[in-house]
Amino acid sequence: MAMNEKYEAVIGLEVHAQLLTNSKAFCGCTTKFGNTPNSNVCPVCLGMPGVLPVLNKNLVEFTLKMGLATHCRIAPKSIFARKNYFYPDLPKGYQISQYEEPICQNGYIDVELKDGSTKRIGITRIHMEEDAGKSIHDMDVDTLVDVNRCGVPLMEIVSEPDMRTSHEAYQYLSAIKQIVTYLGICDGNMEEGSLRCDANVSVRRTGEKQFGTKTEVKNMNSFRNVERALEYEINRQIAVIEDGGSVVQETLLWDADKNVAVSMRSKEEAHDYRYFPEPDLVPVLVDQTWIANVKSALPELPAERRNRFVDTFSLPKYDADILTLEKELADYYEEAAAKLAKKDSESYKSISNWVMTDVLRVVNEEHVKVNDFPISPENLAAMVNLIGEGVISGKIAKEVFEEMLKTKEHPRTIVDQKGLVQVSDAGALEKIIDEVLANNSDQREKYRSGKTQLFGFFVGETMKATKGRANPKIVNDILKRKLGE
Ligand code: ADP
Ligand code: ZN
Ligand code: MG
Repeated sequence: MAMNEKYEAVIGLEVHAQLLTNSKAFCGCTTKFGNTPNSNVCPVCLGMPGVLPVLNKNLVEFTLKMGLATHCRIAPKSIFARKNYFYPDLPKGYQISQYEEPICQNGYIDVELKDGSTKRIGITRIHMEEDAGKSIHDMDVDTLVDVNRCGVPLMEIVSEPDMRTSHEAYQYLSAIKQIVTYLGICDGNMEEGSLRCDANVSVRRTGEKQFGTKTEVKNMNSFRNVERALEYEINRQIAVIEDGGSVVQETLLWDADKNVAVSMRSKEEAHDYRYFPEPDLVPVLVDQTWIANVKSALPELPAERRNRFVDTFSLPKYDADILTLEKELADYYEEAAAKLAKKDSESYKSISNWVMTDVLRVVNEEHVKVNDFPISPENLAAMVNLIGEGVISGKIAKEVFEEMLKTKEHPRTIVDQKGLVQVSDAGALEKIIDEVLANNSDQREKYRSGKTQLFGFFVGETMKATKGRANPKIVNDILKRKLGE
């Protein structure tokens, strides 16, 4: 079903980011993932009677980074609250979170839309909280509980209802992932749950000022799923209204296999968390010095880096977008660019092409991380330098690239070992070309009688005769001269 022009969607996202601190939010237990179930625990994160939580300073520091990177106002004083509910994976019976007075408020993120324009999405709040444990629903042994995750620090980023299409939501979420990974505060992996997104969505007639009733869609563990779930839910709500019904406020779970969102609970069953201020923690006080320190230590953010790539390396915006999408890739490109012999726009663009096509192709096909890419940025640059010096042709470079992938050797070593050095010796090439012309006298006649498009044929034959090693420019020059005779 196509999006209906009569209606407009309204979307607000609640994003949870798991923070990369070493220890948990309120105790010294490790946050390490994958340890034996129920081994990363202590009386504090299990909520035993009489224990006292102690705030992890890095939780505050990381959240401040995010708040400042997204232009939030930082509350000089914020407090923690208890969010009470019963669930087997929550032994304490409550999560420590922030409710009134969150640490970051009223920020924004600018996202880019398909037509190249920029849209500002408001951030209502960013608050700190702790994660709950995990219930593992095992088919054979009922339900198992792993409380290792209890107390792992999270930051929740709540947006204003500013998005109007699933694509805008996708772009906003991508921007969050980019920012947290550039800041180094979260690994941004949705598939593994370090970044989680709940989507609030409603529809209204185009032109209508008031918002419609919203539903909340949960359980989308990839960017694609968020986009698909939103499209599904927008269309479902429009259909309900078109049928004369009204949307019921409820929570839905996205089923990625069936491509549907199924109702989880309605408003009547909605949780009442009985929030109240956490009596065991003092307020968090953030003074101007702390804010100034965090601000001055912020790394370069994605948007700035994109602009710098255009300015410094004279790259097209298209290239800069792709290269800076992931910090690791942007680092890779910059390290390679720094090793170029010729620091000109042609070389910068050349290495950009190699990274965008050949490097990314392998990264995507083989699912390798850029940091584990077999060809180091230095070696990639060395290869581009060899092309620049005329030692190898661009075509031979493809072969060198494949070999570097396998052996991790320096391109010069590969070129020498495999005898791939480009033949630029005009005398030697002339001999080969004479042979090519002698062996193809028919074609040569045709060329003479006006079929000049045969020029490429002679170039091809010469390349074949030299196993692709002939310097194309010199071949062109000699052929032009000889065929003109
Ligand atoms: P709740 O009280 O249900 O938690 P909030 O007002 O706290 O709702 O908003 C939660 C999220 O839902 C926010 O991201 C907000 O932008 C979004 N939101 C609020 N109202 C609507 C609406 N009518 N349609 C779509 N999203 C909405
Ligand atoms: Zn603990
Ligand atoms: Mg709310």
